[in-house]
Amino acid sequence: MSSSIREQISAIRASLPSCVRLIAVTKQVPPEQIRAAYAAGIRDFGESRIQETASKQAQLQDLVGVTWHLIGHLQTNKAKKALEQFQWIHSVDNLQLAQRLDQLAQQLGVSPQVCLQVKILPDPLKFGWTVPELLTDLSTLDQYKNLQIQGLMTIPPLGLTDTEILDVFNQTNNLATEIQGQNWSHLKMQHLSMGMSEDYKLAVRAGATMVRLGTIIFGDRS
Ligand SMILES: *Cc1c(COP(=O)(O)O)cnc(C)c1O
Repeated sequence: MSSSIREQISAIRASLPSCVRLIAVTKQVPPEQIRAAYAAGIRDFGESRIQETASKQAQLQDLVGVTWHLIGHLQTNKAKKALEQFQWIHSVDNLQLAQRLDQLAQQLGVSPQVCLQVKILPDPLKFGWTVPELLTDLSTLDQYKNLQIQGLMTIPPLGLTDTEILDVFNQTNNLATEIQGQNWSHLKMQHLSMGMSEDYKLAVRAGATMVRLGTIIFGDRS
């Protein structure tokens, strides 16, 4: 098992441009397999649940130099825990949550890296800003000085063709470029968190700077 994890990671790494950050998504993956990924050089781990992350982090305290990325929807009442566990939050998906994170970050003396989750196409199954909503909220988001807003995160709706998926990723990149050009005082648009096991090659073609890969590294979760 651990040798196949190592082989998968080196194959993926070899296929990615060196500037793309590979985040190993470890939800439902046991600590031993996380150790195998660490031994294969992974330092960025993605989780989607606060509770699950707490118990794993307790078992993996000896791993040095790890960055934890929250990639799943965050309820406002768990925002404090999230800031204690994660250095990156990719799934900031509404203004109230961002405001709460900013307040708590100040209290805790942390400055988390954040991506804003955006829905390029309508998708009732996903959280996130629509494009017009995001453009409206940017001036408020720019005032959240305790958050280091670094870019956008997106997940295409299910059931799209490759061409349509690529288009979603390209539109996300274009949106980031448009926002970047608006001269904000604080927020930045230097990162694009996009691409999962099934579509990361398309995401990389469209300029992803971070890919979030689970199944292709660790096998099926179910
Ligand atoms: C589970 C998950 C991933 C990883 O998905 P795979 O298909 O297993 O690579 C990436 N991003 C988010 C937001 C996820 O919830």
